[in-house]
Amino acid sequence: MKGISILGATGSIGKSTLEVLALHPEDYRVVALTAHSNVDRMASLCDQFRPDYAVMVDSESANELRDRLQHLQTEVLSGADALEEVAILDEVDYVMAAIVGAAGLLSSLAAARAGKRVLLANKESLVMSGDLFMQAINDSRAELLPIDSEHNAIFQSMPADFHKGLRQSGVEKIWLTASGGPFRNSALSELTKVTPEQAVAHPNWVMGRKISVDSATMMNKGLEVIEARWLFNASADDIQVVIHPQSVIHSMVSYTDGSVLAQLGNPDMRTPIAHALAWPSRCASGVASLNLFEVARLDFEEPDLQRFPCLALAYQALQAGGTAPAILNAANEIAVQAFLDEKLPFMQIPELIDETLQQLETSTVNSLDTVLEADRMARQYAGQYLVNM
Ligand code: NAD
Ligand code: MG
Repeated sequence: MKGISILGATGSIGKSTLEVLALHPEDYRVVALTAHSNVDRMASLCDQFRPDYAVMVDSESANELRDRLQHLQTEVLSGADALEEVAILDEVDYVMAAIVGAAGLLSSLAAARAGKRVLLANKESLVMSGDLFMQAINDSRAELLPIDSEHNAIFQSMPADFHKGLRQSGVEKIWLTASGGPFRNSALSELTKVTPEQAVAHPNWVMGRKISVDSATMMNKGLEVIEARWLFNASADDIQVVIHPQSVIHSMVSYTDGSVLAQLGNPDMRTPIAHALAWPSRCASGVASLNLFEVARLDFEEPDLQRFPCLALAYQALQAGGTAPAILNAANEIAVQAFLDEKLPFMQIPELIDETLQQLETSTVNSLDTVLEADRMARQYAGQYLVNM
């Protein structure tokens, strides 16, 4: 039986993870669940899964949860440090890293350093600190399994020896698929009036609000290009984004002999989650099998960088290297939150990120502190920009 901590248990990925785990009560034991402040959801999850620990980052929420869980053995912890504590417990074999944004960095990294099997949904931690993160995985011999559906598909389509280098293992190119989000075909003039509710209504996937906005701007795909760079030791030129509106092919790998391997399935995160839990075996996920007659056709288009400037900004940050991706990520988080709060128009999300990238100096990443400082500076700059707008 494997012990598992789920960081971000009350979110969309957390929910899908717990649904898969509920199908396999003999194989996995939930050791810890964490959340920011959703007490109702956490209380009901604790009733169902009886974890040893429940973390609420917000201390008032922790007090409230403690009162409500007196009938259980679950120990309630609070504060951001507790996220790292439950990621490195001896009885934890697997850590699902599913906190949204930079808030997930330290706990994801702690799991990597502690040599756990890291099921990584929190792409922002790789974007911010890819080099350090991969170093931690290698030093501790942790297992890193991508949960992002595209990266999970690439992982499944890669040769077993891809770590020695893509060229040496016969890989020519990675095709990173993108749905194009809700505004793939909208007139550019319409995009100036986009509301948060329109932006979070994704055509194929049900996800948290931040990643849904990222999908609408295609910053999500930009972050995923950077994520793929680190996961697969690829260069920016090795990664080609392709718009595939049906979201049935989750990504592909081209080989030097002309072969292209792909992973297909219904767009449902329980598939990559079940894959990462059971790897190298397979287990049931609860997802219906793909009906190719219903799918009928698969379309592909080249992405339009005019329509999606965020994608171009992410490629630029990747090429610039150092702390540039951390700055990009932080400015994006500020911009997306401002958009959701109706303080920034949709079309100005890329403007704010571009401005922040241009104004802040990037430096080489020598340590985690360099990354955290870049994150802090970018948040401060972008926050000030919003005040002066
Ligand atoms: P979500 O908003 O639904 O859930 C986020 C979770 O993080 C919640 O449990 C919340 O309590 C917790 N959280 C938020 N702020 C926190 C903080 N400051 N400290 C501690 N915990 C905090 O998000 P989601 O859609 O589940 O996405 C989670 C991660 O997975 C993101 O990095 C996202 O990019 C990635 N991802 C999600 C999907 C998807 O289908 N939802 C797909 C691929 C990748
Ligand atoms: Mg994805």
